[in-house]
Amino acid sequence: MTNDTVDVLLPYALEGAYSYRLPAGVAAAPGAYAQVPLGTRSVLGVVWDGAREPPEGKALRQVEHVFDLPPLTETHRRFIDWVASYYLTAPGNVLRMVLRAPGAFEGPRQRIAYQASGIEPRRPTPQRLRVLRIASEGMPLMARELQELAGVGASVVKGLIGEGALKAVLLPGDAPFATPDLEAGHLPLSREQERAARELRALIARRGAGVALLDGVTGSGKTEVYFEAMAAAIAGGGQVLLLLPEIALTQQFLARVERRFGLAPGHWHSDVRPRERERVWRGVADGTAKIVVGARSALFLPWARLGLIVVDEEHEPAYKQEDGVPYHARDMAVVYSSLAKCPAILASATPSLESLLNAEKGKYRHVRLHNRHGRAELPKTSLIDMRQAKLASGTWLSEPLAEAIGATLAAGDQALLFLNRRGYAPLTLCRRCGHRLQCPQCSAALIEHRFRRQLLCHFCGHTAPVAQACPDCHAEGSLVPCGPGVERVAEEARSRYPDARIAILSSDLTRGANLRGMLTAVVKNEVNLIIGTQLVAKGHNFPHLTLVGVVDADLALETGDPRGGERTWAIIAQVAGRAGRGGRGGVAMVQTYLPQHPLMTSLVAGDRDGYFGQELAIRASAGLPPYRRLAAIVVSGSDASATERLAKALRARAPMAQGVDVLGTAPAPIHLLRGRHRWRLLVKADPAINLQAYLKAWLADVTPKGSLRIDIDVDPYNFL
Ligand SMILES: [Zn+2]
Ligand SMILES: [Zn+2]
Repeated sequence: MTNDTVDVLLPYALEGAYSYRLPAGVAAAPGAYAQVPLGTRSVLGVVWDGAREPPEGKALRQVEHVFDLPPLTETHRRFIDWVASYYLTAPGNVLRMVLRAPGAFEGPRQRIAYQASGIEPRRPTPQRLRVLRIASEGMPLMARELQELAGVGASVVKGLIGEGALKAVLLPGDAPFATPDLEAGHLPLSREQERAARELRALIARRGAGVALLDGVTGSGKTEVYFEAMAAAIAGGGQVLLLLPEIALTQQFLARVERRFGLAPGHWHSDVRPRERERVWRGVADGTAKIVVGARSALFLPWARLGLIVVDEEHEPAYKQEDGVPYHARDMAVVYSSLAKCPAILASATPSLESLLNAEKGKYRHVRLHNRHGRAELPKTSLIDMRQAKLASGTWLSEPLAEAIGATLAAGDQALLFLNRRGYAPLTLCRRCGHRLQCPQCSAALIEHRFRRQLLCHFCGHTAPVAQACPDCHAEGSLVPCGPGVERVAEEARSRYPDARIAILSSDLTRGANLRGMLTAVVKNEVNLIIGTQLVAKGHNFPHLTLVGVVDADLALETGDPRGGERTWAIIAQVAGRAGRGGRGGVAMVQTYLPQHPLMTSLVAGDRDGYFGQELAIRASAGLPPYRRLAAIVVSGSDASATERLAKALRARAPMAQGVDVLGTAPAPIHLLRGRHRWRLLVKADPAINLQAYLKAWLADVTPKGSLRIDIDVDPYNFL
């Protein structure tokens, strides 16, 4: 290749990088961001390196623009290649995740702020005068800031701008990232925490790859311990990425990071406004953003010099992305750590079996915290045998649980009921003809959501009005809800405890500011009884909560998901761990029809290691992860018989290989999804097998036609 041509990787599902000619006098090293023509469009890409045959004879098109930005590092480029080959996708699909802040390339935009001009307003109302007084003190402020500080509506500020009483001033675009103060909110550590922090600091001091599993019971103060490691990494000149499952990324948590390090960290997730995303993207790329707290996709930000990755709640299924490139952020964080020679800390109270096995084998350093920090005690857990409960029809709370809630409320404490099911009822049936309300596009029930007065498909989001008559036999008033969702449990609670202030925390009802408001009300003890889905399990500190009731502990056990047991344990332990954090002791009561199940008995005994040990033995004998690897292949299409034919043809040509088993093909449990028919195949492979090579050889000459599609999911977490 000559100096005047470059390969540019584009954020599309293309085979590899495309070659372009550089304009005379323009240089572009690997990693540079460039604007290039593609067809009739102009697109953004990254100058790529790596072996590639020079294109023959074709007239190359010219690079339009090279951006003046720090280049994407070699580590990051190899990471993109690695992720693409592991998940059998085009590198451009991975690059697209890096370029998720398109505005960042236009450079920081200026902000318009306002100052008092000295011109008197025509009508000097108290509100207007308040705004002008604030606008004449010191720094120019943005319209929204003036509005908030003066406590007035937008029209007041707008009016003053219109009259010229406020004049515009241009401010430079991005607010710069502050330098962390590593001692700012340093809290005294217990001896156990200090020992753990020392181990993690030693890992940072080695300045190489290396993974630690920080394994500590809920309330043991893991966060303060990894904060110490973060401080050490920043002191060493590195940036720190703190990954959290999106659901745990709360204002409460960000405030905690801010208190500890004396600055607002960059934060990155789907709800962050575009302007702020651009600022974070640029701060990550130029190395000025020292701490970023983000959801899984933050791993793909263009890190200048990553010094530590912390994956909190590492066991969380939310780290697996299900659409687009189906990557697992925890696993890819470990890969990044090894490519970038930077340490990683995986933290959890209930680590995944994958991570526990790696710790057992000595691949990860196992750092444990056994005690709850401070005065907080682990809640006492007891089981309620629902086979003996004799519930009245349409009720879901057993007498022992209902009485315990009553006593808790009477004592002025808080109680929480956990049920991982949104909506009013999971199923609606016709009493007369047996018809069940079903999504027209999916083989899934339509779930009644009473607050929203809607029927909702939880798979595709299809909505329908709540039906008065059966759509099949047209009988009026014949539809009956079956089973409970959180809304129905709330209905029961309202009739049992009419004086209690009840809050429902469920992702479809509470988001953003609304959720923050509710959480604050809970913390301030303005709510007596919380009824919630898994939204309540993560990252919240409820100091007044002393009783947790699990309405249905068996829910996730019988789903056919190999990780069902592990997940049930994790979520129940986590929800139970919300109780008793304020130092007054906590109690967890678990309703189950399977009180003899090893999961239930070990929950009561608090014997996590015992239960996880049993689960590992089961996984080993069943040939499941973490002992063997899985890949799922989903064949889908809008035509039922063409989809089935392709799935069967694919099965027939599966290469025979020692150490590889192919299961299926069979219709997927959700056989119809968004109007597409689906068939599944599952590949199980011994760890020594190159699974990617096997899949590639198998699928090499298969090109699905028309609406047909083949999706490959390496290390699947979804079996529906
Ligand atoms: Zn009917
Ligand atoms: Zn649907």
